[in-house]
Amino acid sequence: MLNIYQRQINLRFYYYLYTGEIDGIEGNKTKEAYYNFQKRNNLVTDKIYGENTNQKLINVIKNIQSKLNEKGYNIIVDGIVGDITINTLKDFQSKNNLVVDGIFGNNTCNKLFNSNKFIFPVNYIAITTYYNNNHLGIDLGYNNKYGKNMVIHSVEDGIVTENSYNKTYGNYVVISHPNNYKSRYLHLKNKSDLRVNTNVSKGQIIGNMGNTGLASGNHLHFDLYKNNSRVNPLDYLFVNNNQEVCDVDKNKVKYL
Ligand SMILES: [Zn+2]
Repeated sequence: MLNIYQRQINLRFYYYLYTGEIDGIEGNKTKEAYYNFQKRNNLVTDKIYGENTNQKLINVIKNIQSKLNEKGYNIIVDGIVGDITINTLKDFQSKNNLVVDGIFGNNTCNKLFNSNKFIFPVNYIAITTYYNNNHLGIDLGYNNKYGKNMVIHSVEDGIVTENSYNKTYGNYVVISHPNNYKSRYLHLKNKSDLRVNTNVSKGQIIGNMGNTGLASGNHLHFDLYKNNSRVNPLDYLFVNNNQEVCDVDKNKVKYL
């Protein structure tokens, strides 16, 4: 079982649950940290550091360490936070424009675990045409709640590479994302306000649904490229908490 000193270090690293001195003394702040850790991980909240709590604390740290290794680092996956784990996390934070504090918090968690878990580009998800050999993307329809010009969001952090118009696509935007992904948003109502070469963040508004170009009615044609080949967006997109799925078989979409 981890000694109290190590528990404090792990619990400080993990969401800053332990805010006291690293002194190896099991005082109120330490017990409070046990409680918050137990609560966050659906364990019995008895403030007692038993075998289940110990195992869980080791496992969550191991998950973080192995996820860092997936990002190209090479650290020992032992569930014990030391200088190497902290400094590796800091390096990851600094490369991802996060606050560099060596603490695994919400923003770091999102970046580390949800990168390239793209979200749907609309908050009301009605798929009117699926991906197939003749249609290498998905069409998303409108509804009464959000209207014919519902807001379109970027599916992931990225850089705007095109914001243009042509007769087929109408007003359209192309965004490139980390790891060689690229997303496209066609038939927008108006030209997007986004400037080429500017950064966008996941969820940022791109524009509004429209029917410009070759479109028979308002919809968003969305497609996704991986290494310059089109892929089925439904294999990559996830529904987030404030999005609704309607008129779609719920087994066909994935949830964050
Ligand atoms: Zn389409």
